Amino acid sequence: MAYEFTGKHLIAGRWVAGSETFSSSPAEGPVRNFSFGSAALVDEAVRAAEEAFETYGYSSRAERAAFLEAIAEEIDARGDDITEIGSGETGLPKARLVGERGRTVGQLRLFATHILKGDYLDRRHDAALPDRQPLPRPDLKLMQRPIGPVGVFGASNFPLAFSTAGGDTASALAAGCPVVVKGHEAHPGTAEIVAAAIDAAIKRCGVHPGVFSLVQGGNREVGTALVQHPLIKAIGFTGSLGGGRALFDLCAKRPEPIPFFGELGSVNPMFLLPQAMAARGEAIAKGWVGSLTMGAGQFCTNPGIVVVIEGETANAFTKAAEQALSAVAPQTMLTEGIAEAYRKGATKIASVEGVRSVLTSTCDLRNATPYLFATTGKEWLANHALGEEVFGPLGMIVTVTDTDEMLAVARSLEGQLTASLHLEAGDEALGAKLLPILERKAGRLLANGFPTGVEVADAMVHGGPYPASTNFGATSVGTMAIRRFLRPVCYQDIPVALLPEDLR
Ligand code: NAP
Repeated sequence: MAYEFTGKHLIAGRWVAGSETFSSSPAEGPVRNFSFGSAALVDEAVRAAEEAFETYGYSSRAERAAFLEAIAEEIDARGDDITEIGSGETGLPKARLVGERGRTVGQLRLFATHILKGDYLDRRHDAALPDRQPLPRPDLKLMQRPIGPVGVFGASNFPLAFSTAGGDTASALAAGCPVVVKGHEAHPGTAEIVAAAIDAAIKRCGVHPGVFSLVQGGNREVGTALVQHPLIKAIGFTGSLGGGRALFDLCAKRPEPIPFFGELGSVNPMFLLPQAMAARGEAIAKGWVGSLTMGAGQFCTNPGIVVVIEGETANAFTKAAEQALSAVAPQTMLTEGIAEAYRKGATKIASVEGVRSVLTSTCDLRNATPYLFATTGKEWLANHALGEEVFGPLGMIVTVTDTDEMLAVARSLEGQLTASLHLEAGDEALGAKLLPILERKAGRLLANGFPTGVEVADAMVHGGPYPASTNFGATSVGTMAIRRFLRPVCYQDIPVALLPEDLR
């Protein structure tokens, strides 16, 4: 491997060491030492970001597009090392890391193209009406402007696409906002090498170095200091409901509250309608198992719950799912803590009265096989906890007595990232009743598909009502993600020479 680790933080173009170190916990390969982050390092990084905003916030779209392209090139140039380090740290297969890198550089390039088009600026103009009675109208121009320094939390389950140079960072940089990343302790080496790629791009493009900093974690104080720093204007986060909610509350309690764009938990329910079950119940079961167990079930869009109507087809579906799940080999989870949370979540579900264990996992330290549980619509509706996300390949089949109970289960759901329907000719009437209910619950609705695999595109929504996300008006995937880091400004009668270049 060509990459030589520093074990340090990247603060505005300088590699800075802390006083003490923590050890990485790779699934495979050498354990390395990294400096603990601290509130003082966060402060240094954020101050540099604020200074960088004075130029970067007014850079041209072409300059920022070239910078995003340079980051993508520098990441690809380190591709093999990134794969080796990332796969070793997370236990995710190398092919997954290669694919995720493709997505990461694809996102950077998509945002480069997106800002060059300029639509995202949402420019509006109400021309002056000097003769209007009883009062004249001033000249009004509107445009979206970047908000200032943004804090980003690296996500454990996407070491590349939702971490150091992931979607939050790419969309903030595209908007014109400097970024301070809090690295996730599960993959500090991956964070470091990607930060080195961004640093190289900064130097190549002559961008202010404060535009990007990485403060490694290992210490609770880093995340708290980041969300509470007065110069930080918004946060991008993917992680647990508990952690996300704690950080969201800190953002709300600040003297100047800031938006916290948290993408938290979701069980991504699937509703299997009678004709679809009759026509292809077993095929759906196999597809579900593939989606549920992909990446050891560590996807935000993992479909943890399936709702079916009782009867022969439901029994055959359960059997087919059990068979397919028992053939799934053990997979390495991202951290021992996540594996432990998976086991605890399963134990909690198993203890609920009326829940039947169909398949038990042989999960040990960091390896997991799937769990499958079954329950009735009645039990589901009576036990709110059954709707909570268990991160990992854990599936639950909810058997309802009839279509009314299926609708009741849909109505009882909390906010979700996705909700899926499987339907065939003859299922339309039920589909038409479900859709308006599910539309109020989820950010993305699917028919005859499985939710894992989020397309990075213009029309994607990766968000949803709480607790799927803390901000239902936003998405963390797709070009619309840039809106999180923009703010509309109205320019009333401002002389043209003083207007931002994009509005002249
Ligand atoms: P996490 O515990 O929520 O941590 C994510 C980040 O938030 C880490 O950087 C963590 O810092 C920080 N953090 C959490 N609580 C904090 C607090 N009270 N104050 C300050 N910082 C805080 O998520 P995780 O480590 O990725 O995985 C744990 C669980 O999260 C999983 O078992 C799973 O349930 C869930 N998860 C869900 C998704 C999803 O997409 N829905 C994705 C990933 C994980 P520290 O390093 O200091 O802890």
